[in-house]
Amino acid sequence: MRDLRISVTDRCNFRCTYCMPKEIFGKDFPFMPKDGIMTFEEIDRIAGIFISLGVKKIRLTGGEPLLRRNLHELVSMLSMRDAEIAMTTNGVLLPRYAPALSAAGLDRVTVSLDAIDEATFAAITDSGHTVAAVIAGIEAAESVGLGPVKINTVVKRNSNENEILDIVERFSSRDIAVRFIEYMDVGTTNGWSLDDVVSASEIRDMIGDIERITPENKSDVAKRYKLPNGGEVGIISSVTEPFCNDCTRARISSDGRLFTCLFSNKGLDLLSPIRAGHSDSYIVDLVREHWSKRKDRYSEERSINSSRTSERVEMSYIGG
Ligand code: SAM
Ligand code: SF4
Repeated sequence: MRDLRISVTDRCNFRCTYCMPKEIFGKDFPFMPKDGIMTFEEIDRIAGIFISLGVKKIRLTGGEPLLRRNLHELVSMLSMRDAEIAMTTNGVLLPRYAPALSAAGLDRVTVSLDAIDEATFAAITDSGHTVAAVIAGIEAAESVGLGPVKINTVVKRNSNENEILDIVERFSSRDIAVRFIEYMDVGTTNGWSLDDVVSASEIRDMIGDIERITPENKSDVAKRYKLPNGGEVGIISSVTEPFCNDCTRARISSDGRLFTCLFSNKGLDLLSPIRAGHSDSYIVDLVREHWSKRKDRYSEERSINSSRTSERVEMSYIGG
C-alpha cells in the first residue's frame, strides 16, 4: 500500500456523461447527508493511520474536491504529515482556491480536461462550464507553484478521440504532461460498452512518433512516452492492458469506507469504529487485515472472461 485516494465529497459541479449523467445525478439524487461525511479531523486521522502502514502519497478527490468548503484547512492538517499531498480536480474553481491551497501545503494538482474544443467539452461535461475556465484554473495552479500540472483526459469513442492530437499539441510544449485514460466500466450508470473504449494501442498510433520512457516505479499506472518536441504523454490502459498485479492503491469514500479496488461493490466501514471511539491500533488492525486479504483484480478478470459484476460503486462516490 503506497497511495491513498480520499474522496472529500460525492457532489460535483459538472455532470460528465460518463461519470455523473444528469438523468441519474439530477436534483432528486440522494447525495450523502452532511453528517455521514468524514470531518477534516476524521480524514486527517485516517490519513495518519494509512501513512503508518506505508502510504507515501495522498490524493484528494471526489466528486469535485474544490466543492468541499475550506478544503485548505484539511490540506494544512495533512501537510504536517509525512506524505505528498496532491489533488485531482476539474479545475474551474482553481482560480479562487489555488492560492490558499498552495499556502496550506498542497504539493500539486492534476486537472481533468477531455476536450479543448468548447462544443465537445460542453457535450461531455453537460454543465455550462467552459474550456477557458479550466485553462484559467491550470494557469492559476501553475502561478502559485502547484505544478508541474498534469492533465487527465478520458477518451471515449465518437466523443473526443478527435481531440487527442490537439490536446497533445496544446500542452506538450508547455511542460504539462497529458495522460490519456481508457474509458472504464466504473459504476453502473454510464451505460459503458467495450465499443466505446479507444484502446491504448489506438491512442499510441494516433499520436505517432513516441518513445517509451522506462518506468520509475512498478506501480506507476501510466505508461509514459517522450514526444519528439521533448514533451511527455502518458497512457493509462486499465481496460486493454490491466495492471492489477502492481496496484498499490487504497481508496476511501467520503463516508469513510475503504475500497481496495475501483471496481469493488463494497467497502470496509472505518468511520463507524472511529466514531465509536476505537483506538488507532484497532483501526490499523482492521485495515491491515482487510488489505492483506484483498483479492481484487477486476480488470484482469474482465479481460480474461469479460465478466462484469452487476454492482459497482460510482466513480463520484469512491473518488477517481
Ligand atoms: N471531479 C474531479 C475531476 O474530474 O478531476 C475528481 C474526481 S473524477 C471522478 C477523477 C477522474 O476520474 C477524472 O479524471 C475523470 O475523468 C475520471 N473518470 C471518471 N469516470 C471515468 C470512467 N468511467 N473511466 C475513466 N475515467 C473516469
Ligand atoms: Fe465531476 Fe469529475 Fe465526475 Fe466529471 S469526472 S462528473 S468533474 S467527478
